[in-house]
Amino acid sequence: MHVADIGVKCPVCGVKFSSKQLPVIVDTNRRNSELRQDFEGKIPQFEQYAVCTCPSCGYADWAHRYEVTNETSVLTARKLTPHIQFRSAAIAAEKEGRDFYSIGIFYLYAAWCADDSYAVQQAKEYRKLAVDFLKKSLVDGSCPKNQKEEIQYLVGEIMRRAGDFEQSKDHFRQVMPRLSSKFALMARKLMKLAESQDSNPIEFEWGEKTSEVQK
Ligand SMILES: [Zn+2]
Repeated sequence: MHVADIGVKCPVCGVKFSSKQLPVIVDTNRRNSELRQDFEGKIPQFEQYAVCTCPSCGYADWAHRYEVTNETSVLTARKLTPHIQFRSAAIAAEKEGRDFYSIGIFYLYAAWCADDSYAVQQAKEYRKLAVDFLKKSLVDGSCPKNQKEEIQYLVGEIMRRAGDFEQSKDHFRQVMPRLSSKFALMARKLMKLAESQDSNPIEFEWGEKTSEVQK
């Protein structure tokens, strides 16, 4: 995993600073049941490098949304726990009036990073918020059309991961008729896990698509 120092400019206060970013993100095509890229512990998770916080005003956003600058600066991005940065990004996005889908994804990433730092209570809170916003994104149309099915599936799985087992089962039952075989197969497995009050992630199985996935 190659981490680069990239000079960026804050869109809010204009301060220039150096950020740590991943110029290339490897895709292993392996996902867990929450559709998070799974490196099986072989390399560090990349999400921590996907968020960036301005050292001057504290504004947080996706690292790639900061304008890149060639000017050097002695300032470096604020080093906060990644899940806290994603939470700030979600709050900032809500204030800015960004769509529900964007805010929901920030909270999902916050939950994943909270898992990485064993922040159990925060992870649970972020998942509940992710569910709220992603559900709204399915209603208001801010969820991209090509991700609708994925998000319908994901909402049920995030509920299960947050320990809301009954809600998760109800949600899966509702969306099941609209899911393709790949997601329906997973949803059935997850409903069984919810039945036994198990909130652990499992591997996402691609079903018959496996052969074309790994290139
Ligand atoms: Zn700033």
